Amino acid sequence: MAQSEVAKQTKAAPTASVASSTEAPPKGNLYTIVQGQLDKAAKAVNLSREVYTILSQPKNELIVHFPVRLDDGNYRLFKGYRVQHNNILGPYKGGIRYHEDVTLDELKGLGASMTWKSALHDIPFGGAKGGIKFNPRLHSKGELERITRRYTHALGGNIGPESDIPAPDVGTNGQTMVWIMDTFMNMRESSDKNAMRRVVTGKTINSGGSYGRESATGQGIVHCITEWAKHRRFNLNGSSFMVQGFGNVGSHTAKILAKLGSTLVAVGDYKGYIANPEGLNAHKLAEHVAQTGSVESYKHARVIGREEFFATEADLFIPAALELEIGETEAKNLRCKVVAEGANGPTYPEAEAILAERGIDLLPDILVNSGGVMVSYFEWLQNKRAERWPLEEVEQRLEEWMKRTFGQVQDFAEELKVDMRTAAYAIGLDRIEKAYSERGIFP
Ligand code: GLU
Repeated sequence: MAQSEVAKQTKAAPTASVASSTEAPPKGNLYTIVQGQLDKAAKAVNLSREVYTILSQPKNELIVHFPVRLDDGNYRLFKGYRVQHNNILGPYKGGIRYHEDVTLDELKGLGASMTWKSALHDIPFGGAKGGIKFNPRLHSKGELERITRRYTHALGGNIGPESDIPAPDVGTNGQTMVWIMDTFMNMRESSDKNAMRRVVTGKTINSGGSYGRESATGQGIVHCITEWAKHRRFNLNGSSFMVQGFGNVGSHTAKILAKLGSTLVAVGDYKGYIANPEGLNAHKLAEHVAQTGSVESYKHARVIGREEFFATEADLFIPAALELEIGETEAKNLRCKVVAEGANGPTYPEAEAILAERGIDLLPDILVNSGGVMVSYFEWLQNKRAERWPLEEVEQRLEEWMKRTFGQVQDFAEELKVDMRTAAYAIGLDRIEKAYSERGIFP
């Protein structure tokens, strides 16, 4: 589609009749939604019944309860999870989430998405996701450390450098990974300790992390947006964008897009939304969030409601918060040209259909937000080989790989006449099916 057509469609978007929704849509079941996406892609590529059956449930679902002593001397029992979805293509791989709304079905959906993500990009990993159901913002650093170490201890040998490799996700970071690594190392013979370093990725640089890992997801999203822009003959320089969520993914995406000449006009997080049509400085905003915990009280902007946020005129929209934030109302209100899913599973299927009808492109999560797991793979390789790759090398490999997969998904979508998400799933499923058909089912 030529740029002028894109512009026409955006102009045609309703401005006067903004559908009303001050709250996020009531949360649906992410696992059911991800299954629906699998069904659609399975039909498109005629996936065998056997492989479909295997993939329709995770291999293992682990739930642990563990007590932790809080700073006031009281004990609290925490509930932790690790869902190991599939490992036919390599060790289980995926983040650990700390959030009060964590549920088993959410992690099943997110774990399955990791399987498709690794398979799509041909990263030799499977899919997993874990988490602890609690609000990390309400705990001191000492409590977070004890919670993380007890969780790691409770998981025991269910994770490992060649079997299941956690990484950061919502509510966790490099420090969390270092605590997991250190606890895991201390549960082993001292002669084995250093071989255990790669039990987690997304570590800090000092403790064996990779250069470029922290910004990798944002960087990968921007590579995909750049490819989209080339395809649509759209000039990013002088464009505008908005971001939902200003944690690791949202803030890095914003900083990198700003370098390409795009202006951040609206942003929101768990506390509220702000806008400034003249532009928000992503670097200063990130500093503000580091100090205060939220974008809401940032001075150089106007506080707006959720409804107004979704109706803001901006060329690009990057949801980078939690899943299932874009419902039918949001899809009707959005006035962007493209939605690049920084978060995992941010869009309801009904909303996706509305976006497609309105001519708004959608770049699916497993394609665009995979920079994180890709550089996780680089980190794992560096640890395994006792190497340290310079930032330039990491960035170059990331760029080539993201762009290559983007092209494959685009070609496949055109060939199969399906949407980008279905094409992305289909490429991953094809790789998984081939592995199953060669190996067969034990015994
Ligand atoms: N949590 C990230 C994701 O959802 C990164 C996973 C990883 O690096 O293993 O893709």
